[in-house]
Amino acid sequence: MKTSVIGYPRIGILRELKFASEKYFRSEIGAEELLQTAKELRKTHWLTQKNAGIDYISSNDFSHYDLVLDTAVMLGIIPKRYQELQLSELDTYFAMARGYQGDSGDVKALAMKKWFNTNYHYIVPEVEDDTKIRLSNDKLWKEYEQAGALGIETKPVVIGAYTMLKLCRYTGVKNETNFIEDMVAAYKALLDRCQKEAINWIQIEEPALVQDMTKEDIEVFHAVYDALLPYKKDVHILLQTYFGDVRDIYEDLLAMPFDGIGLDFLEGKETVALIEKYGFAKDKILFAGLVNGKNIWKNHYDKTLQVLEGLRQKEIQVVLSTSCSLLHVPYTLENEEKLAKEYLDHFAFAKEKLTELQEIGTLAEVKNYQDEEAYRKNQKFFTRKRDCDHDEVKERLSKVTKKDYVRVPKRSSRQQLQKEVLGLGDFPTTTIGSFPQTKDVKANRSAYRRGEITRQEYVDFNKKKIADCVKWQEDIGLDVLVHGEYERNDMVEYFGEALGGFLFTQKAWVQSYGTRCVKPPIIWGDVYRKSPITVEWSVYAQSLTKKPMKGMLTGPVTILNWSFPREDISIKESISQIALAIRDEVLDLEENGIRVIQIDEAALREKLPLRKSDWYREYLDFAIPAFRLTHSGVKPETQIHTHMCYSEFTDIIPAIDDMDADVITFEASRSDLLILDSLRENHFETEVGPGVYDIHSPRVPSVKEIVKAVRIMLQKIEKEKLWINPDCGLKTRGVAETDASLRNMVQAAKEIRS
Ligand code: GLN
Ligand code: ZN
Repeated sequence: MKTSVIGYPRIGILRELKFASEKYFRSEIGAEELLQTAKELRKTHWLTQKNAGIDYISSNDFSHYDLVLDTAVMLGIIPKRYQELQLSELDTYFAMARGYQGDSGDVKALAMKKWFNTNYHYIVPEVEDDTKIRLSNDKLWKEYEQAGALGIETKPVVIGAYTMLKLCRYTGVKNETNFIEDMVAAYKALLDRCQKEAINWIQIEEPALVQDMTKEDIEVFHAVYDALLPYKKDVHILLQTYFGDVRDIYEDLLAMPFDGIGLDFLEGKETVALIEKYGFAKDKILFAGLVNGKNIWKNHYDKTLQVLEGLRQKEIQVVLSTSCSLLHVPYTLENEEKLAKEYLDHFAFAKEKLTELQEIGTLAEVKNYQDEEAYRKNQKFFTRKRDCDHDEVKERLSKVTKKDYVRVPKRSSRQQLQKEVLGLGDFPTTTIGSFPQTKDVKANRSAYRRGEITRQEYVDFNKKKIADCVKWQEDIGLDVLVHGEYERNDMVEYFGEALGGFLFTQKAWVQSYGTRCVKPPIIWGDVYRKSPITVEWSVYAQSLTKKPMKGMLTGPVTILNWSFPREDISIKESISQIALAIRDEVLDLEENGIRVIQIDEAALREKLPLRKSDWYREYLDFAIPAFRLTHSGVKPETQIHTHMCYSEFTDIIPAIDDMDADVITFEASRSDLLILDSLRENHFETEVGPGVYDIHSPRVPSVKEIVKAVRIMLQKIEKEKLWINPDCGLKTRGVAETDASLRNMVQAAKEIRS
């Protein structure tokens, strides 16, 4: 059976692309060197797949920042303000991704959003009324040729017109339907060029098909492809979907002249049922997404082979594929030197998944595959018991009652009390938690990790940093302070390490956005708190100031969503276990004099099912109560904050309010402020700090611009409820820009007050 990979990670096993890009941003290397690094990475990735025996290998899955941005640029969707900078092609691209502040001008970055239900972020393309959508560069063919020169015939990948139309923001009066015609023409030009280059297969990705589709959406899809497909000639088109099933349009797809259809059998709950009900097309190849592109557990060959057997009996032509791009899993287990084999044996990262594809593909052709060595070896991991139970956790969870999910008294009677106790006036200023993670901070942590310094030395250094940070914040004039999070590498890894039940990798990086990578922990077993985690730092920080010091925790939903979850118990059960562990920490902080506690839920929205009809039943109905369980035990005067890294929660405002936090801070500076209208319409009760400036870019916001942002907010939010803060943590920012930005922010708050 042939095998296919939707996409491969691109940041580099040792994050080579990240480091080269960052050097380029700091002008330490030139474009040549960056492009060379990129070229070598592509080569390595193709050869790895080739050597693993993969038949359909992708090209153009490489990106310097993001694939949606690449596609936008390919289509000429570049807002005027970036064109006017008159930078090189590469720098214009980076200006859109990261903002630009320099000799040529001062422009913010485009908005960034979560890529469907993942922790990957894409850049939101902006279409202006006079944007001329047309094929505008040849990245796709250059990369195809590069692979060709290595003797590898690839299938170039590109995000499809329908998904692009859905993801773009339209800044003028026109909307997606006004651009269909140009879009079709651009993709037609793309197909023509593929025809000219004698490209055999092209993978057109349409993940937007797995979301609920209205009648109009289906019309848009037809308008695009009914116009486009007649031009495909000899080029074979694989219509690739992932992250769910295509129940709203499956029958239509079968009837359309695609040569291959890629379906997700893992997250696509109805994929098998759709095939049962409507069959598949004789003239098409089914690219069956059965090897998980999102999670790191070994594939259970027996289950996969049964699905394949079912397809074989239906006489469907099948290519075995990943469920989505392998971008969402780390590269390889090969560099994991610390984890014991008994653990590693249960996992497969990208490279190991290539082997799985190859082995399953081979087994699928063998009649008595049960006798094969590869099968037997795999089966062993699923029949023996893993050492992952912690009985006390299960018992404690079974004793949780309804009342444990409810904080008393109700929020409206807590808010005034908290203001008085904490001595907060109008428009309190605060930050989201982390302060710049400068080189010395990282060096201190890694020296401690490597055993080069003692725990005392490590602690002393951090205490000094905390003391400086507290002084710095007092000097700036912030109202609610933070300790700076110098002890944390990552907001989830840090907590995972302190909790029982988690496993950690050394090199298992996954791209989150641009050059930013995360190293998600693995939830191996039942989760519990071993001992207090943050109390020492927060108490020390509070001892240095009279102002309220905000304790800083990560919430259960985010811990779960940014980890690789178990597949043997439900998400609900895992989240509840984590909630109890965080609850212990919340109560300890309070007990030790911390009066404001922020429980970050940066990733709450992330695992929201892509189909609205599943939102509550399959997620919010347990995720929101899990958050309440963390803080329902605190006193009325203890102020609970939460933070979210985005503002797309217009559609779940009641659920967010139902978390029963006292204050929520969120990202607003990079998106329009429409969310504020919705908050008002929904009688949102939680106090709000819609970030007044964008921390994802090094740009320093002026006082004037912040005042303006706050004035707009004030038209929509009662002044008693508005907080002034940046839109996320400051850890990725430099010291100078942080200082300047925060001073401007505090100054803006002063001007507003007066
Ligand atoms: N408290 C965290 C920080 O400031 C929150 C980070 C986040 O929301 N991603 O870094
Ligand atoms: Zn954030």
